Amino acid sequence: MMDATRQDGIVGRGNRDGAQLFRDWFQDLTIAAQDGRSAAYVFVMGSMAELLRVFDFPLVFPEINSLQTAVRRVAHEYLNAAEDYGYSTDICGYVKADVALQLRGGEHPMGQVPKPALAVYTNACNTYIKWAEIWERMYGIPVFTLDIPGSRSAGGQTWPGDPQFEADRRYVEGQIRELIELCERVSGKKFDIDRLRETMAHANSMSRDWHQVLEWNRSTPSVFNALTDGTIFLGVSNSFRGTEQGSQYFRNLVEEMEYKASKAIGTQREEKYRLIFVGVPCYPIFRRFNEMFTEAGGAFVSSTYLWFASGGTDTGFEYSLERPLESLAEGVLINVRHAMDSMFFQDRVLAEMVQSYRVDGVVYHPIKSCRTVSSGLADNRRALLETTDVACLFIESDMMDKRVVSEAQLKNRIDAFFEGLASRKRVAAVGASS
Ligand code: SF4
Repeated sequence: MMDATRQDGIVGRGNRDGAQLFRDWFQDLTIAAQDGRSAAYVFVMGSMAELLRVFDFPLVFPEINSLQTAVRRVAHEYLNAAEDYGYSTDICGYVKADVALQLRGGEHPMGQVPKPALAVYTNACNTYIKWAEIWERMYGIPVFTLDIPGSRSAGGQTWPGDPQFEADRRYVEGQIRELIELCERVSGKKFDIDRLRETMAHANSMSRDWHQVLEWNRSTPSVFNALTDGTIFLGVSNSFRGTEQGSQYFRNLVEEMEYKASKAIGTQREEKYRLIFVGVPCYPIFRRFNEMFTEAGGAFVSSTYLWFASGGTDTGFEYSLERPLESLAEGVLINVRHAMDSMFFQDRVLAEMVQSYRVDGVVYHPIKSCRTVSSGLADNRRALLETTDVACLFIESDMMDKRVVSEAQLKNRIDAFFEGLASRKRVAAVGASS
């Protein structure tokens, strides 16, 4: 009986609390907008939340606002408005949904989004640069580009102590110092290094626990669905990074995953096939898209989305609070590089995970709207198949635009994929018994 009570309290808590935190966050943004306060507009790959919170900016993540319009099935209204305004059908759907949101004065299905006071972005996606220029033109705000030197080649990541890394770190630190001056000017507040230490300490705790949560899905059965549950965790990891609420949420989440693993509580009745998802989810039919896999016994144990869309914070990197600015530069460099590598060079990590997570299949989902993530996926699949005998599915749709999402076509391809997985299992079973 006691166990059942504990189970009631813990299992599913991450999803419940995550949804509530997310509603609270939008509520706070709505209050800020109504009070006429303006926000820092940031992106998930290198949000600089730790630093911007020191100046009390409300944080707006336009990518999250946009994907929420798709999950809430109103993205087409926003996309149509932006296309009527003059934006092409084939650019990133997130940008168009945001343009329409700005034209509507910040009106969003979850509340009201405040106007920007400044925008801060990295070069992790080239679209970020053109997107921020739209706000610059609309509002005349300062935009800040944080240029992160990427890995020079697949597997070419450098680390602290390496002369190349140290040169890159100094380059990033110099830019962070310029960003501090800009934040002081825009906010009218003096930079407080002790407040930065506090937000960095919360971010440390969150990164450590986020890494742990992902690791718990090595368990069989897997303890969370990387596509659906993972997206909730991701939302909190971005919007509450650097806060006490965010770090507490992830502490609780580790406890939940640990508990589920100890009791072998999985995400479905029978986990037949363990899968990794590569790319950005299909938000216009999010629930149905997931069901097409889970109904056949497919369980998403991991997803590259959870790596790059958390800004690479899944590395578990922790800042040194003794030398905050230097360490912030180090962490931003390591994490944002990892986010970029997770989009462009993910085949080596996937090959390793196929073994260590006992993966049966890898699902590639390139999308029309996002060339940054999608362009190299066909080559990446080829590279993975050169080193690993794993089943792969390659399906295309979109993360925003339901006009290019064909549920029937997706279903046919997914069903055929599972037939192939079933036949592989049968062959393996015969091989094992002969
Ligand atoms: S192109 Fe892709 S990575 Fe870039 S902003 Fe759009 S969805 Fe995000």
